[in-house]
Formats: sequence, structure tokens, C-alpha cells
Amino acid sequence: MRLDDGRESSNVEDRRGFGAVSGGAGKIGIGTIVIALVAMYFGVDPSVILNGAGTAVDHTAQQTQQPTDPAEDSKVKFVSTILADTEDTWKMLFLQIGKQYEEPKLVLFTGATPTACGTGQSAMGPFYCPMDRKVYIDLAFYKDLQDRFHAPGEFAQAYVIAHEVGHHVQNLLGISNKVQQLRQSSRSEAKSNALSVKLELQADCFAGVWAFHANQARSILESGDIEAGLNAASAIGDDRLQTQAQGYAVPESFTHGSSAQRVEWFKRGLAQGDMQQCDTFAS
Ligand SMILES: [Zn+2]
Repeated sequence: MRLDDGRESSNVEDRRGFGAVSGGAGKIGIGTIVIALVAMYFGVDPSVILNGAGTAVDHTAQQTQQPTDPAEDSKVKFVSTILADTEDTWKMLFLQIGKQYEEPKLVLFTGATPTACGTGQSAMGPFYCPMDRKVYIDLAFYKDLQDRFHAPGEFAQAYVIAHEVGHHVQNLLGISNKVQQLRQSSRSEAKSNALSVKLELQADCFAGVWAFHANQARSILESGDIEAGLNAASAIGDDRLQTQAQGYAVPESFTHGSSAQRVEWFKRGLAQGDMQQCDTFAS
């Protein structure tokens, strides 16, 4: 990616080094970890997993900040630059539909951190909490993305942020709220999961919309970037993750969409940068 002249965002909240010093981590059962592994990537409603897991950050425990890894500095700059680019892009797109874009915060953390949606854990992967309008990411995820999911490349990393910001856009547009209500009133888990998939695929599509406009305005994409993004979308499809975790995939339990679906919707946003093309709920 070409990001040399890009500004950095002022909305990054750095909580790295404030690890969870509580006893909460010890209470996480192996079952929770398996569920988290299957559901984690990304944007899963954290309260679903966390409230069931019986974990809590002990706020009385003294939290001392560990020194942060200097090797991460360039990653922090990268994340901050991508976030700033999403701010510029979505500000412009919201203006076009007569709305005002309110910028989300992005929290960097290590291990675990309190959020308005419950305790955030690194094991969940990056996520967005609609209650406090913040994107949460442990930079260690990028190592996972590269090593475990074989999705290297800067654009793969940018896509992760753009996807979470896509959830923020859904929140601002009132889409998340509507879906949440529908999920609560839907009797079957399969139906509820299907709604979750539509929400996730739309966030993928919005990530593509961002990339289209950012590239038009600032020529950020270099050769190989789009492939890296599509590869990442494919690597974190539910079918791929479930097969890795348990040897087979159960489509009714998908909450994010299959690899093919994620690639398809990301591509759809990327093709024309048109938000209208991202109506995953239409069909
Ligand atoms: Zn998501």
C-alpha cells in the first residue's frame, strides 16, 4: 500500500501494556475458547461470548503498564493512518447522503480490556462495540492473520480495520439496531445466525467501498494489494475457520459468512464504491 503522505488519526486510544491483571482469565473454560475461536473473526457481538463466559476484569486489581514493544510502532502508525483514511472517506460518503459522519475511536490493547459490551479479549479477534462506538484491536492479531490464517500483506491488515469501521457505519445508519431487534425476535438460532451473516457481509462490502474511494482519492493500492485483501476475506470465512477448528463446517451455525460470500461482498463494494450495492438484506 502507498500511505506515505497519509495523516494519522487522533482517535486512537492506546491501552497497550495494560494487561488484564485480574483472575478473570483463569475462569475461561476450554469450551469458551473453542467458541471464541470459531466465532472470533471478526466483529462478533462480544457480549454474546463474554457474558456467557463468566469472566470479568477485576477493577480493584492494580494495573501497571508494561513497556510497549518498539517493533509495534510502525504497526500503530499504520493502523492510525488507515483509520484516518476511513474517517476522510466516510465523511465524504455521508455528506453525499446528507448525513454527518461521527468518527469512531480505535482502542489498541493487549490481552483483555473493559468495553461497554463486556470484557474484550484478544482471542476474539478485532471487534466493534456499538455501545461505546469503539473498534478494539490487539495488534497480535496481525501476526495470527499472517501466520495462522496465511493472509499476509498490508491491505489484508487494512481490510480488518475497514471491516470494523463498516460496523460503525452500520451503527450510525441504524442498521445494527434493526438487525439486533430482528435477531432478538427471531425464534430459531439458524435465523438469528443468518441475520448476523448479512450484517457481517455488509461490513465486508463497506470495507470494499472504503477501499474504492480511498484509492480514487489517494491512490493507496499497489499491485498485489487487492489479492491480499481478498485472500484475507477468504481466509476468515466461517467454513474455513470451522474446518480448521473441528474438521468440518456447519453452515447453519455461520455467523460471518463463507469464504466465497465474504470475497463476493468485499468485491462488490470494491467494484464501484457504491453503498447501494451493499444491501445484503435485500435477498
Ligand atoms: Zn464483523
